[in-house]
Amino acid sequence: KAPCATPKQAEEILRSPICCIMGHVDAGKTKLLDFVRGTNVQEGEAGFITQQIGATYFPAENIRERTKELKADAKLKVPGLLVIDTSSHESFTNLRSRGSGLCDIAILVVDIMEGLKPQTIESLNLLKMRNTKFIVVLNKVDRLYGWKMCRNAPIVKALKQQSKDVQNQFNMKLIQIITQFKEQGFNTELYYKNKEMGEIFSIVPTSAVSGEGIPDLLLLLVQWTQKTMVEKLTFSNEVQVCFVLLSCLGTYLHHKEIKAAQGIKITAQGLEHAIAGTGLYVVGPDDDVEDVKEAAMEDMKSVMNRIDKT
Ligand code: GDP
Repeated sequence: KAPCATPKQAEEILRSPICCIMGHVDAGKTKLLDFVRGTNVQEGEAGFITQQIGATYFPAENIRERTKELKADAKLKVPGLLVIDTSSHESFTNLRSRGSGLCDIAILVVDIMEGLKPQTIESLNLLKMRNTKFIVVLNKVDRLYGWKMCRNAPIVKALKQQSKDVQNQFNMKLIQIITQFKEQGFNTELYYKNKEMGEIFSIVPTSAVSGEGIPDLLLLLVQWTQKTMVEKLTFSNEVQVCFVLLSCLGTYLHHKEIKAAQGIKITAQGLEHAIAGTGLYVVGPDDDVEDVKEAAMEDMKSVMNRIDKT
């Protein structure tokens, strides 16, 4: 139902891409999000990251500031990035399958010391099923023996400052992991060597402790989504898709207007019965409430069926 925008308008009014984080337990998903959020978690101010329920919003100004050292002159066309934290809350079992469909792009976190693990492969299968594009984060580079910390440095700069021995360790681990991905049917390559993005999945080495590679990750997420998903990201004034991320009680902030994509808290009676992973239906002036109720119940049943099966 999206109103048609001319190609020019479409480029100018993109919505924020939605990104989800997946990977094996202990790969560093939580730590990575914590690091990217930093300490300046303040609500609502321009340039500040907003931590929402089950989601974190990174405004474009913040991303621009943090990626300065990469000297990317590419314009940021998206207003920001919405990262859904599906790893740490109750809803993940329901959202695991839906989340990968709901997201425009996924981050698949792999521990460089451990390589691919069962849950990494499970995540890969979900991503393949939904045809969701993803970026591989090769986390914990600081655990390579002898790693010299370069806080928040772009990864190429950080790697250059390492000894030959550390660089060799890094290359060996990288080759092993690229081979493991190949065994699963995926071609992967370091992002700055990747000439066929889309066909070959990009790898960004990071440390969630000292921040090496984090600027690269933020920039790649934004650049890739705004380059390849313009149509999908075209802003529309109509409600498109809403999902319940988490049902809980909490303080609330009043919003006059919500622009996609955002995580919001809704306060209403009976919401304790809401189930994470189900859709949120909006009754428009021309809709029949009973029809919408029926659609919502169908959705609820399908999620309940899935829960029963797992
Ligand atoms: P999750 O289960 O994927 O969310 O993993 P966590 O974020 O909880 O991380 C698991 C453990 O690895 C924690 O003890 C983290 O402190 C540690 N960790 C995560 N990322 C890094 C990293 O980049 N470097 C190092 N040295 N430790 C990390």
